[in-house]
Amino acid sequence: MEQSALRNVAPPRDARRFFAYVAVVIGAGAVLLAVHLPGGFPQSLPAAFWVLAGCAVIADTRPFVQVGRDDVLLTFPSVCFTFAIQLAFGFAPAVLVQLAAVVVTAGWLRHAAWRAAFNAAQYLVSFAVADLIVRRSHHVGWIVVAAVAWFMVNNLLVSTAVWLRFGKGWRARFARAVRVDALATGALLLSAPGLVAAARVDVLLIPLALVSLYAVRRMTVLSAERALEARRDSLTGLANRKGLERAVANRLQEHADRAANQEAARRLALLLLDLDGFKQVNDSLGHRVGDRLLVEVARRLTDRADAEVGRLGGDEFAIVVPHLRDVADARAHAERIMDVLREPVLLDGLPIDVGGSVGVAVYPEHGTDFEELMQHADVAMYDAKGRGDNLAVYAPEADHNSPERLSLLADLRKALESTGDTGIALYYQPQVELATGEVVGLEALLRWQHPERGLVDPEELIKVAEHSSVMRLLTFRVIDDAIDQLAAWAEGPDGGAAARVRVAVNVSVRDLHTGEIADRIAAKLRQTGIEPERLELEITESALMADPRRVLATLARLDRLGIAIALDDFGTGYSSMLHLRRLPLKEVKIDRSFVLGVATDPDDAAIVRSMIDLARALGLRIVAEGVEDERTWRMLVEAGCDLAQGWYFARPMPPDRLLDWLTRHRRSTVAHTA
Ligand code: C2E
Ligand code: MG
Ligand code: MG
Repeated sequence: MEQSALRNVAPPRDARRFFAYVAVVIGAGAVLLAVHLPGGFPQSLPAAFWVLAGCAVIADTRPFVQVGRDDVLLTFPSVCFTFAIQLAFGFAPAVLVQLAAVVVTAGWLRHAAWRAAFNAAQYLVSFAVADLIVRRSHHVGWIVVAAVAWFMVNNLLVSTAVWLRFGKGWRARFARAVRVDALATGALLLSAPGLVAAARVDVLLIPLALVSLYAVRRMTVLSAERALEARRDSLTGLANRKGLERAVANRLQEHADRAANQEAARRLALLLLDLDGFKQVNDSLGHRVGDRLLVEVARRLTDRADAEVGRLGGDEFAIVVPHLRDVADARAHAERIMDVLREPVLLDGLPIDVGGSVGVAVYPEHGTDFEELMQHADVAMYDAKGRGDNLAVYAPEADHNSPERLSLLADLRKALESTGDTGIALYYQPQVELATGEVVGLEALLRWQHPERGLVDPEELIKVAEHSSVMRLLTFRVIDDAIDQLAAWAEGPDGGAAARVRVAVNVSVRDLHTGEIADRIAAKLRQTGIEPERLELEITESALMADPRRVLATLARLDRLGIAIALDDFGTGYSSMLHLRRLPLKEVKIDRSFVLGVATDPDDAAIVRSMIDLARALGLRIVAEGVEDERTWRMLVEAGCDLAQGWYFARPMPPDRLLDWLTRHRRSTVAHTA
């Protein structure tokens, strides 16, 4: 039975109630033994009994293994032999053999004496109940009833003990124990009558059952290994996200119990660590070396003891630190953990500096479950990175994410991590050359149809995602989709209505802080064979101007790759001339707030004119966005604007509708110019 759920250590819950219960069960067992044993044990027993008894003891040295939610559960198979003994020889011989098996197991697994006594008593009570039933008749129906009764009583006794020790609802504990154990123990109990029948034919048939038990045991061990494997990261042997989630859930339960006991050290911190410069190591020294670096970091982190360490993938680690006093204590711990990265890592004799940024979220201040703590640690880590710091504790006052926004963010992450139809799509809006009326470009715009909320406003969505690591996933998705779309159009059978246009993708300035985006784009272009000139990146002016130096290296690389950079929402970000000249820009997009007023407001018209002149002087292509009517279009033509984008021509459309529109548009421009 599920004995392992009771561990030897002293229980943290109400220990008195638990031990009182254990004492009562042991007492009941002792009474049963005292009442039944004298006279219940036959003077002489046949060989079949001794063979069954021997098999029972041997069988328990190889228990079945199952991985539970937070424990490994053992099922001891002796019961198929002891239940057979009960059917053939009665209660007393059965329980004596069961006691012998318990004693051997307890010695072998080093169980505490109280625990072995409890297990023995638990069997005594179960066999006594079964005995009341099989005494009436050995008809197969009654045997099944007795087996069910044995199983229920046994589980009742164990799950009550587990509940008294760990809490979390008696009924749920019992139901789970029954569910997990019904098949294994049920099969064991119900093979007993077969063993009795076999013994009548030849006692030597009995030990053959050990072979099938061993086979079952092997299979349970293999599947348990696989189940544990699924919670581990294969490179470092650390817990993966799933394993960590379990660990945190267990720790939180423990902390909740302690809180009930009014203990001081009841806080828990979740640290999210992202290494700096890991990508460079990977790129310059190869994946092998990168892997070794991760393994070494994992080793150093785990050496820091009393913390649970996991790897979430890539160069992201998470560390769970329990039993902290307060938030300051959590910060101090995090700082000490970060110290392990201070020493460079020696790889092939080469000292490599690994820094990192860590975000800290503390239970219960910053979250009460794994998801919430992870999200807030992520926000903090991002904050640390944004400030060029190596540590930040989550600051609720600085986080403008309402619970609603956070749940939106969690949904977005799930949607981006899963494949298949997740409601995320790109719409495309044409950019028209004013001189010719020809469509030369398309802007890819994100659309997300949320299963419950409906269409999510992209601006709102970007605002939420931008302050978390979800942004990176989102940008990669958009880039991949846009390039895949270009490739699909290039192969299209339609004579290429969209075969030669350029696609502009919006990226967040934070995407440019590392060079990763350039690698990603280069790889994707290589893989699809799309020329770099077909892709353009739009970056909003205000974000870019906030810290242009930080992104200069990435912009320069993209420029060398041949990818054009457009300054989006031009006019809203106070660009200095100096920066406009220094950054490798190809295009500016005049913000629609100015363009919308061009036809009605002379000031806006003047501003747009001077923006066009400025951009022209710098040799940049000029796009006006938000062109909604013909008057605006005429004025832009007159002012010398290059391209226009807006509802006057077309709204953003899904790719299939766009192809139709392009074909129709081409026909009408041809007719126009002819
Ligand atoms: P943006 O890059 O300035 O995109 C232009 C916005 O103007 C789009 O709004 C477009 O639908 C809208 N628009 C186009 N023509 C007209 C017009 O004639 N009149 C008016 N009133 N509006 C027009 P949308 O699609 O709602 O996107 C809003 C913003 O969200 C974008 O502004 C961009 O900053 C951001 N965004 C959208 N998709 C992405 C994406 O994939 N990644 C990133 N990082 N940001 C995105
Ligand atoms: Mg844009
Ligand atoms: Mg814009």
